[in-house]
Amino acid sequence: MTAMSKKEHNPVAHLTRSDIESLGEELDALRAKIIESRGAADAAYIRRTIDIQRKLEMGSRAVLLFSKYKPAFWAGTAGLTVSKILENMEIGHNVMHGQWDWMRDPKIHSTTWEWDNASPADLWKHSHNELHHTYTNVLGRDNDLGYGIMRVDEDQRWMPFYLGQPLWNALNACFFEYGIAAYDLELGKYFKGRKDKDVFKRDLGKVGQKVRNQMTRDYVIHPLLAVPTGSWGSTLAANALSNLGRNIWTHSVIMCGHFPEGVETFTKTSIAGETRGDWYLRQMIGSANISGSKAMHIATGNLSYQIEHHLFPDLPSNRYAEISVTVRDICARYGLQYTSGPLPKQVGSAWMKVIRLSLPNHIAAKVKFPSRRKKVEPTALPSRIAAVEEDGAAA
Ligand SMILES: [Zn+2]
Repeated sequence: MTAMSKKEHNPVAHLTRSDIESLGEELDALRAKIIESRGAADAAYIRRTIDIQRKLEMGSRAVLLFSKYKPAFWAGTAGLTVSKILENMEIGHNVMHGQWDWMRDPKIHSTTWEWDNASPADLWKHSHNELHHTYTNVLGRDNDLGYGIMRVDEDQRWMPFYLGQPLWNALNACFFEYGIAAYDLELGKYFKGRKDKDVFKRDLGKVGQKVRNQMTRDYVIHPLLAVPTGSWGSTLAANALSNLGRNIWTHSVIMCGHFPEGVETFTKTSIAGETRGDWYLRQMIGSANISGSKAMHIATGNLSYQIEHHLFPDLPSNRYAEISVTVRDICARYGLQYTSGPLPKQVGSAWMKVIRLSLPNHIAAKVKFPSRRKKVEPTALPSRIAAVEEDGAAA
């Protein structure tokens, strides 16, 4: 998801072209160091995580067979929710990024993994890995900027539809997996006639099949298994609650990645001729982290290290904490903001933007919102500044 807050100054204007390139070299060296040291301990980590998640899911589902008793209901629901969160975040998202492909284990590989989510793996990989991670925070290119249902940047044109966006966002949180599926289907593009009909039909078939499988498992098979113990109704409710809990959690974490105050957005023209250093720079200042305990980091799939994830989407998530030490140091040395804050603060900040930008800019400007910043033009990266200067010099 993405941001909209813009600073009153260009946060990268102080960097020269050679600064940017040496920043890129430092980050390339960091990447090489992690790749070099990847090994048995990392492989053991992901295997252990998958094992824990599967046991937790099986155990919770077994407890739910007796969910007509209140303690079993709550224990089973809590366990199933945590297992679904782990499965989507620390495992699914990261495996499908190819973070564990180097293990050459066909069972833990981005090309074979399918997850507990309404969106089929191949559709999600295209919209997330190829589009969002490439065009991060570029207005008009990164559809994660409001998912096509919200205005999350002053430069997105206001329409009356956006007045309801606090409600759309709340609904999207509750049914997030279906929101992702609709988004990955590119519904908006299809209705505007910009998506091939046959491709859309094929994708719709895949999503339909996936949703049927999920629903059958959670709302038919497991409740049926609990019929003999008289717990079918409570098992069905527990599955619905676990899906709701997982959806709200993942939506909140993902909102924190690019929405909170302090995160930059970019114009389409600013990425023309982008070098590797420019690309790294855009990922760094276009993302925000969440601070907290180790358990919290794992529950977010280490997307709490969103900055590190955007710099190196295919490096193992268990290494992001270590990577963050160097990235913080680089930010300090190059005078760049490293946006980070505790979960409640970041979630609050992201929500405040959704509420503020539901109003047209001129009205929003008159309302006093907490931590509101003045609107300035989208950041021009140095490659763009240099190009403009050269044009000026030539003229
Ligand atoms: Zn990602």
